[in-house]
Amino acid sequence: MGNLVDYQVQGTVGVITLDNPPVNALAVNKGVPQGILDAIKQGEHDPHVKAFLLIGAGRNFCGGADISEFGKDYDPGKATLPDLLAYMDTVTKPIFAALSGPTMGGGLELAMACHYRCAAPGTQLALPEVKLGILPGAGGTQRLPRLIGVDRALEMMVGGDPIGGEQSKELGLVDELVNGELRQAALSWIRRRLQDGAGVRRVSTLSPALEQPAEAFFAGARERVARTWRGYPAPLAIVNCVEAAVGMPFAKGIAFERQQFLGLVRTPESASLRHLFFAERQAAKIPDLPAETPALEIRKAAVIGAGTMGGGITMCFANAGIPVTVIEMAQPALDKGLETIRGNYAATVSKGRLTQEKMDQRMALISSSTDFAAVKDADIVVEAVFEDMAVKKEVFATLDKTAKAGAILATNTSTLDVDEIARSTGRPQSVLGLHFFSPANVMRLLEVVRGAGTSHAVLATGMKLGKRLGKVPVCVGVCDGFVGNRMIHPYLKEAGFLLEEGALPQQVDAAIEAFGFAMGPFRMSDLAGLDVGWYIRRRQAATRPPQERYSKIADTICERGRFGQKTGAGYYRYEKGKRDALPDPDIEALIVQASRDAGIARRQISEREIVERLLYALVNEGARILEEGIAQRASDIDVIYAFGYGFPRYRGGPMFYADTVGLEHVVSAIAHFREGYRAEHWQPAPLLAKLAAEGGKFNG
Ligand code: NAD
Repeated sequence: MGNLVDYQVQGTVGVITLDNPPVNALAVNKGVPQGILDAIKQGEHDPHVKAFLLIGAGRNFCGGADISEFGKDYDPGKATLPDLLAYMDTVTKPIFAALSGPTMGGGLELAMACHYRCAAPGTQLALPEVKLGILPGAGGTQRLPRLIGVDRALEMMVGGDPIGGEQSKELGLVDELVNGELRQAALSWIRRRLQDGAGVRRVSTLSPALEQPAEAFFAGARERVARTWRGYPAPLAIVNCVEAAVGMPFAKGIAFERQQFLGLVRTPESASLRHLFFAERQAAKIPDLPAETPALEIRKAAVIGAGTMGGGITMCFANAGIPVTVIEMAQPALDKGLETIRGNYAATVSKGRLTQEKMDQRMALISSSTDFAAVKDADIVVEAVFEDMAVKKEVFATLDKTAKAGAILATNTSTLDVDEIARSTGRPQSVLGLHFFSPANVMRLLEVVRGAGTSHAVLATGMKLGKRLGKVPVCVGVCDGFVGNRMIHPYLKEAGFLLEEGALPQQVDAAIEAFGFAMGPFRMSDLAGLDVGWYIRRRQAATRPPQERYSKIADTICERGRFGQKTGAGYYRYEKGKRDALPDPDIEALIVQASRDAGIARRQISEREIVERLLYALVNEGARILEEGIAQRASDIDVIYAFGYGFPRYRGGPMFYADTVGLEHVVSAIAHFREGYRAEHWQPAPLLAKLAAEGGKFNG
């Protein structure tokens, strides 16, 4: 059985314990399914054994397959999960499962191949395979509809989200909820069931319940799924499998599921989603940070500035249960900020996504002041005042005097030099950047900016705090725009050049949105507001090299007072109270005039050219960022774009996407771009050129 599966006979029950920490994953090559199979075979031949109990050692039953084995070859001498489950369907002694903790994917499929299931408090059950671009490939799509009905099963597998024990009991996925020490509780449950005459009850022999005519139901499901999951093949394949569960005998359904599963594993979409799954976990690691670095205790927080970002950041702390004081220069700004926070919470309550009680609890964690002395007992202060170095320096100098010794001083700056800000204090080791994204209470990305002087403990705390706030923290170095915003600049510039050369905003946005981005560059700019960029460009004008290509379109739009959605007009026009971006003939005329002024003959630009020029602008800057060590690894850049910039997850992030199309192709496309109008800015980054020449990849 190996040491990852333990087998002991207790009374008349053969107890099989999965013991593969940390989550009892069903690692095939390590022999976990094989160990369970061997244990069952041993018990079948033992006349004392009347039933089996499957249980997990430690916190949970089983977290599922070992996904590091995906795409690798299995040892042909070892049973796979489907082999094990097929065998379990032939066993003539009842098999009981005791579930606890996260019971996910293959773990739940294993549980469903048992004949009865009980669950401890806190059990979470899910078939989340869809999130990795695949489907439950070990009978899940065939057994779940037979246990809980077709409708609910489809919902659970297409969404991939977990349900609790109580709900599982109501649905019939779990037969009993038990309390107390799990093994003992499960054994007495089994005794009772055996006394009641419970025998073998194979889920494969049940019929899937469906209250509507199958044809209409599946047509509706397909239509819904195609609309919600554009670009993702897995949800549709799940619908196909559930339809097979209804229309085919079990064995045929299983064969169909396997074929669909194998098809999905090979898709670039699944490879991309799996890449991001690992990338997100990898991003939490900082190689030169000693593992034993202690994180500081964060019991209280303070936020400076109650504007757009300050308000959102304050909510992040309150949402995580951390008391927070928000500080403004004057009472009216403070009142306005607090009112916005209250309004945001109230809107969530009215949508039914937060209870009034929870809202009250969160509001009670928020205090406010116009006096910087209020930061004195905060363990961390996050500054979110105007993006102006002089203002930031003054704030940090004040914090240096008022914050307690050892408190972390964080800045939410998007562009300014964190090291220069740190130098305005006498404690640069306590300073770092925490770059939240707007709206801060919603967006998951957090760039944790490591300054030259940031101590290990402060950096470790920043990363840990990010997780506690429900964010995906990624460590980045100091430069203008860090990773995400620095890359967006060449992307937006290129989008402007495309307008000058012949495209219109709606055409550029449509091309990028068809690629899968949540929003094209111009709709995104209108949403974010055009005035900030305009301000920055005017500041940079004096130092901009005169030979550099510069499109004036964005400036001309701003000169007309069009700052985007907030002014009802930007690259598009907006009707009052609506957010739909409507193409505007005035903008078209403005763009055509700009081409004329620049002496450019407008031409038809293909969707492919739009997508390639914008994406490779991101990739090329990403390569420079990697070279400079601003990002620790290519996959961190992918995480930043997937979580902060609406990059389609099923494409894996810009660097992974470049690897997928081939770096050689990217370099030759760049060479081709250089032949275009004033395209001397198209130079492949040295790292990109080098990797392409070697046949290498960003994500090694
Ligand atoms: P904002 O103008 O909405 O808010 C700034 C607030 O700071 C104002 O309420 C102002 O009264 C207050 N303030 C200014 N000086 C202060 C002082 N000395 N003491 C206390 N309060 C002071 O700006 P914002 O959009 O929230 O941006 C804040 C910071 O966050 C900037 O550094 C910005 O670059 C950064 N940021 C913004 C975004 C975004 O999308 N808006 C995203 C990421 C980061």
